[in-house]
Amino acid sequence: MAKHISVDISHLGEPPAQPAAAERGRNSCPDCGSHYREEEMVANLRVCTHCGHHFPVAARERVAQLADPGSWVEIDGDLRSDDPLEFVDSRPYPERIAAAEQASGLTDALITGTATLGGQPVVLAVMDFTFMGGSMGSVVGERLARAADVAVDRRLPMVSVAASGGARMQEGVVALMQMAKTVAAVDELREAGRPFVSVLAHPTTGGVAASFAALGDVIVAEPRALLSFSGPRVVKQTTGENPPEDFGLAESNLRHGHIDLVVARPELRETLARIVALLQGGRPYRPAQPAPLPGTLGRAARGASRRLRGLFRRDDPV
Ligand SMILES: [Zn+2]
Repeated sequence: MAKHISVDISHLGEPPAQPAAAERGRNSCPDCGSHYREEEMVANLRVCTHCGHHFPVAARERVAQLADPGSWVEIDGDLRSDDPLEFVDSRPYPERIAAAEQASGLTDALITGTATLGGQPVVLAVMDFTFMGGSMGSVVGERLARAADVAVDRRLPMVSVAASGGARMQEGVVALMQMAKTVAAVDELREAGRPFVSVLAHPTTGGVAASFAALGDVIVAEPRALLSFSGPRVVKQTTGENPPEDFGLAESNLRHGHIDLVVARPELRETLARIVALLQGGRPYRPAQPAPLPGTLGRAARGASRRLRGLFRRDDPV
């Protein structure tokens, strides 16, 4: 019997995905199969104009969707995670962070800054699910707490947009402590009489769903977003029962009183501006007419805006 077996390995079948193919997958609607070019996705606010499916939005693009042009000033962008546990799973934690930084262009899963929203100064805190599943570690917690400090010091309202898989396991108990820390930060906002509006994007789960994101004075969610401590699969495994079909979705949370509004993305900016104006007790919010974008992008944006308005027409403005 032979002691050694010689094996030749060569790749058969599909070649590795090319960037164009990756974009095709990313920009194809999982609900209706419609496909969009990247510039159409940006103009559509990453909402399918055919069926209304909400695609994920990266943090910087979300800021561009919500903040008035040129008003965003980032704070604490240089904070970086330490590796307190010297944690290694299949890769060391610092390697994972470096890969996430390279892939996302961010230094952690939350960016914070000041901006104006419909002409009103606010503190904005926006999560990015592409950075290690939007997990909350020491940097996310610290940035959120410091953002709340800025809101208190400058007497501004705070708006956060969450998208998270929960606490960052690579930071262990340090990550879990961020739940208490962010809850305390929201409490300070409340004591100082600063409004806090929490927006929940798909998915907002685990330690983020169970801390600051659930504590807005007004909690707004995007349609069909999963908002739950655990997802339906884990609930089924734990309880042995089948959860309802819409378990944990924004619409179910609205029915059960866990959130205040479900707002489609094309109406999110205006809705947030109205809520902030109401909570600030100032003059009623009057939307400004934005200057039209020139050229092809302008035409694409105007077309998308018309189609999206048709999809999400509402009779109950806030
Ligand atoms: Zn679609």
